[in-house]
Amino acid sequence: MINVLERIEFFASKDCDRLVFKSVSGNLSYGQLWESSEVLAARIGALEAEGILKRGEPIAVYGHKEPEMIVSFIACARMGHPYCPLDRSMPESRIKDILSEIGTPVMIRCEDGEAKLYCVTESKSHKNTSDMGKQRVFDEDIMYIIFTSGSTGKPKGVEITRDNLGNFLEWMTGVATDINEKEGKVFLNQAPYSFDLSVMDTYTALASGGTIVSLDKKVLVNPAKTMEFLRSEKPEYWISTPSFVDMILAEKDFTQEKFPDIHVFYFCGERLTKSTAEKLLNAFPDAKVINTYGPTESTVAISQVEIRREHIAGEDELPVGQVKPGTTVFIGMENGYIATAGEDGKVGEILIEGNTVAKGYFRAPEKTDTAFEKISGGRRYHTGDLGYFKGGLLYCIGRTDLQVKVHGYRMELGDIEANILSMKEVEAVCVVPKRSDGKIRSLTGFVVAPTMEGSFGDGKKVKAHLKALLPEYMVPKKIKFIDNMPMTSNGKVDRKKLEEEA
Ligand code: AMP
Repeated sequence: MINVLERIEFFASKDCDRLVFKSVSGNLSYGQLWESSEVLAARIGALEAEGILKRGEPIAVYGHKEPEMIVSFIACARMGHPYCPLDRSMPESRIKDILSEIGTPVMIRCEDGEAKLYCVTESKSHKNTSDMGKQRVFDEDIMYIIFTSGSTGKPKGVEITRDNLGNFLEWMTGVATDINEKEGKVFLNQAPYSFDLSVMDTYTALASGGTIVSLDKKVLVNPAKTMEFLRSEKPEYWISTPSFVDMILAEKDFTQEKFPDIHVFYFCGERLTKSTAEKLLNAFPDAKVINTYGPTESTVAISQVEIRREHIAGEDELPVGQVKPGTTVFIGMENGYIATAGEDGKVGEILIEGNTVAKGYFRAPEKTDTAFEKISGGRRYHTGDLGYFKGGLLYCIGRTDLQVKVHGYRMELGDIEANILSMKEVEAVCVVPKRSDGKIRSLTGFVVAPTMEGSFGDGKKVKAHLKALLPEYMVPKKIKFIDNMPMTSNGKVDRKKLEEEA
């Protein structure tokens, strides 16, 4: 298991001037990260001594892509306090909700080149005796609390322990290339720190002595500016959502010739389509395209596979890969049968057990009990994702909560999407229900197809294609052509927004 604090300390002493983080807000070296986090940790210790903060209480860390964010995370970790990252792009009401949910007395705001400590509630704890000298951090301690996006239901704070993170990194640092090959390399960070995809780039880089180049929101909303950033920062390991790379793939210069440094693309967080993978393999013939899968509740990702042309040519959607060591996936079928990895083609809910399954949801024992089934020796997380195994690989084909009933027929939106995507003209698709009075009345398919005009006739063409593949009731009533898929601030397709426009 990797101890990320030890790794940072190691690189800080080995090569203290090596850059660990770069963004438009500033740069940070390993030496500075270790020293500044020590200074901030001492200030956190002083708040404990004053009785403002109790041992192990969470600390909210607010900001965006400032180097102080990383300093704050590491300072909290050094003092055994879970941190809860809040991104500046989150709506104020959401931030308030999260703050009241975690009830933290202390918040760190990263702004104006500083990590400022604020007390957010009145002191309610008694005076502590300072014990800075003793071991403060234990493996079962919570490292961070990341709130789920809330795209389905109210956001829940997922508690990830140091053990969970260490186990994830033990595997992740060896995915695509080994950990030694990653040392000193440049890792792209696209995701905001409030989204756990950021753990994949940031902690993999920290554990392997790499440099994180972090895309600020101001830059990433503009493809031309993003291209400029990529040209100057030259990332070697690309980590993003598929929707984000789709946006960049629309730029004609995004090729291996222009970006010879990028040699691995890692994706997570949503479906990687064949069209995206194919475009990437054409534009970057020597790069590896890695699809990874997992929920926040099992520390970012639990499976991975290098996507090759034979996967694209195959009849299934792209696989999400081989399950990592230390984790076991089962398929919970509707009839109650629990299938294992050896049973090909049995479709059901993806259930995850193993050493990266979170402790639970912060201060929400009921929700924890519902999603994290207690089993002997651990917990089994019910993902709500639908999947199956085939030839030793896991496939994720949608969500149980994207199963909808229209006029009494039950169907899987992901299934309709996959069939629309099989049209060669279609680059991206999202099918959403159109509701009135809380009832689903029909379906609308939003389609990105740059070579089509988006005329009535084109809509009919899409429907005719679907009719040949699916029962009539699964064909969306309306097909709407759009230029780009709207993205959430996490860089995933914004289904809620599309539902409003359905
Ligand atoms: P989050 O907890 O926000 O990271 O979202 C996790 C969810 O994203 C999973 O439960 C899946 O529904 C979806 N997801 C993540 N990775 C993939 C993938 N490679 N393919 C399809 N869906 C994915």
